[in-house]
Amino acid sequence: MATVLCVLYDDPVDGYPPSYARDDVPRIERYDGGQTTPTPSALGFTPGELVGCVSGELGLREFLESAGHELIVTSDKEGPDSVFERELPRADIVISQPFWPAYMTKDRFAKAPNLKLVVTAGIGSDHIDLEEAIARGVTVAEVTYSNSISVSEHVVMMILALVRNYIPSYQWVLDGGWNIADCASRSYDLEGMQVGTVAAGRIGAAVLRRLKPFDVGLHYTDRHRLPEDVERELGVTFHADPASMVEVCDVVTINAPLHPETENLFDDEMLARMKRGAYLINTARGKICDRDAVVRACESGQLAGYAGDVWFPQPPPSDHPWRSMPHHGMTPHISGTSLSAQARYAAGTREILERWFDGRPIRDEYLIVDGGKLAGTGAHSYSAGDSTGGSEEATRSAPN
Ligand code: NDP
Repeated sequence: MATVLCVLYDDPVDGYPPSYARDDVPRIERYDGGQTTPTPSALGFTPGELVGCVSGELGLREFLESAGHELIVTSDKEGPDSVFERELPRADIVISQPFWPAYMTKDRFAKAPNLKLVVTAGIGSDHIDLEEAIARGVTVAEVTYSNSISVSEHVVMMILALVRNYIPSYQWVLDGGWNIADCASRSYDLEGMQVGTVAAGRIGAAVLRRLKPFDVGLHYTDRHRLPEDVERELGVTFHADPASMVEVCDVVTINAPLHPETENLFDDEMLARMKRGAYLINTARGKICDRDAVVRACESGQLAGYAGDVWFPQPPPSDHPWRSMPHHGMTPHISGTSLSAQARYAAGTREILERWFDGRPIRDEYLIVDGGKLAGTGAHSYSAGDSTGGSEEATRSAPN
């Protein structure tokens, strides 16, 4: 029987369950391209419920306990006295979400001799030292596509919020003002702007599709080109590398995984190549951007705005400079954990566990590492190596 150690974010401050704004979420059966949404044998929750927090337990408890497994759920994940570190030596399976990641560093792998499977309930396994998982023969899986459209919607929202100066204008209303000139002095139309995505995978391509009706010029860079008919349909221009793309863009959105090739990709040099007054949206991973270089660019006006929902570490300390730099539109890491997204990635997590316990293969599209090597989606989108650098420090202390 397995011990499943699951790290989830805290319950709402007003208690669990929350009162829901709507009664249900639309049922999605297939993603663009044909992949089916998760197909577990049953669900331990009603889609639309908050299952990503501790009391929600991803709807897994009854399923696991009725089969004799043990489920430990906690949000307490940093520091040697945390519940996570205390229970890690017994864990056969670790589950966490990128929004509240259980950083699986080399040290932590060493503390988990029984560990066989690490599941990302969502997308993005960069909080796991993949090199160490490969070396130890631990399988890593994530729920590919489960929240890609959720993130692409957040990207479009953030682009519009920055370009149209929504957040400061809303603030004037809260403050009792009617300061139209103050609002308008940084407000533009997106129409006619050049918008580029770093990576045109599931999220990047969905962003391109959603932006096409805005009559913008579309650009992308990726390691592989989109099929010719898709390029033509979208009217999107390919650039061989991010450096050449950012020079022509008014808006850049980052939609590549964090791995050693993309870590710190947006440093002072890359930001200096962008047009003065460009907007940068990063919902991919915080470490793809150099934290302090972004602050400098927002302060100098090189960037007209920076928005995203990804930080490093997560949660960020209360004095993280992205909380207070000018012209930002940051949110906590929420784009991929809407109630709609949760329904899919919780179902996908259960599907992965059902297959694992039955000895059936996990869907290839969910695999990142298997059999001592990058596998499935992991072999396509990641590079071997470790992008958890700095996480050791984050794991040693609770955030302030
Ligand atoms: P996909 O695997 O569909 O797409 C990733 C794309 O990035 C692929 O096309 C890949 O290229 C490309 N890529 C990889 N490395 C590079 C590079 N060095 N330069 C340019 N392109 C590169 O993933 P998704 O679109 O579903 O997700 C992308 C990322 O978004 C995730 O890895 C995750 O970090 C983040 N994410 C964030 C969420 C949030 O809540 N904010 C939720 C979900 C994901 P190719 O395959 O052509 O080699």
